[in-house]
Amino acid sequence: MGERSQPIPAAGVIVDDSGRIVAAGPRSTLDSHYDDRRDHQVLMPGVLNCHVHLTDAGEDTPVPGGAGLNAWVRKLLSQRSGEPRGGTGLNESVAEVLERMRRAGTVAVGEVVNNYETFGAIARSGMHCRFIHELISFRRDRVDATIAWAEEARKNVEWPATMAHTLGAHAPYSVSPELMRRIAGLTRDRNVNIYQHLAEDPDERLLYESTSGPWRNFLEQIGAWEPEWTPAGCSPIEYYDRMGILDDHFVAVHLADATADELAMLGARGVRAILSPVSNLHITGLLPKLDAIVGNGIRFALGTDGRGSNPGIDVFDEARVLLERWPDLPAGIFLDALTTEGAAILGFDDLGAIAPGNVPGLVAVQIERITDDIRSLEQQIILSPIRRDRVA
Ligand SMILES: [Zn+2]
Repeated sequence: MGERSQPIPAAGVIVDDSGRIVAAGPRSTLDSHYDDRRDHQVLMPGVLNCHVHLTDAGEDTPVPGGAGLNAWVRKLLSQRSGEPRGGTGLNESVAEVLERMRRAGTVAVGEVVNNYETFGAIARSGMHCRFIHELISFRRDRVDATIAWAEEARKNVEWPATMAHTLGAHAPYSVSPELMRRIAGLTRDRNVNIYQHLAEDPDERLLYESTSGPWRNFLEQIGAWEPEWTPAGCSPIEYYDRMGILDDHFVAVHLADATADELAMLGARGVRAILSPVSNLHITGLLPKLDAIVGNGIRFALGTDGRGSNPGIDVFDEARVLLERWPDLPAGIFLDALTTEGAAILGFDDLGAIAPGNVPGLVAVQIERITDDIRSLEQQIILSPIRRDRVA
């Protein structure tokens, strides 16, 4: 995975039939003819949408948000309980959504699941996928059973070359510290990242700091409360730090409610992030403190989250929303987030960069004007593309 290089004017890329890059550089250096000369276009690698829930692929209208995460989750679950799940309908929706994402330039997804109902449709699509089986259990007595069930599920399917498996942890309010420790240990042993929704909403703090708030209520209602839970007396981020599980293989998803001090600590530990601002704005109205994230050197990628909170599911929108809110940040950091950082966070070495040997997929972005001002060029790609086409 290299650093993003500067745009090359009048450049060309030679790909073989499988989309593998044979050569790239100024056209004058390429020993080939070219037949597709398009002005005002920038060629960039395909992008990675690092956090999706394709179980929601069929939701064309979002679950109403604005009242916090707990309220949103309750609405989502009550909506789901009235619907038949899985089967042909879901397979078709997943295939359709993946095809739409592919045409708009996405080459890989981080699919976050609690079961395998979307596995077949993703495998058939050929889309690269980090299949993150996130475990849920706040009860201490269920740790072994939860891990055993997930390991069994992993063995029972045939993994295509385009898909990779990881155990994930759902969120601080749904995963006991004991289960968290086990998942962190297993993922570290396998040299893969651990992914968790973290600091998405303020209520998870209440649970850890004082054992109160809507998550305790919710866990009691569904019979998932741990009777021996003692308040941690600090936020989940601080608690995880005391457990010693925050390091450069930990990927925190959201961080919308993380404080400046917490972001400084995460940066010092080398924790990386996946940001989903469109979903955050819908569910809680919070945005992660991107200036502090960047200032603390936290590397980040982007993800749309599910269609239940972001029906558009176009990862370029995440970059646009953040750049509009922080217009003084260089647009190039969002191009990194969409490409090289996404590839590093999902663990796909041959995606995210136009370099010989890679199979990154190529996206042609038509913009208003080609200019020597790199910042303006990069801003146009994110804020005002006229067209985006997948060309390889
Ligand atoms: Zn999510």
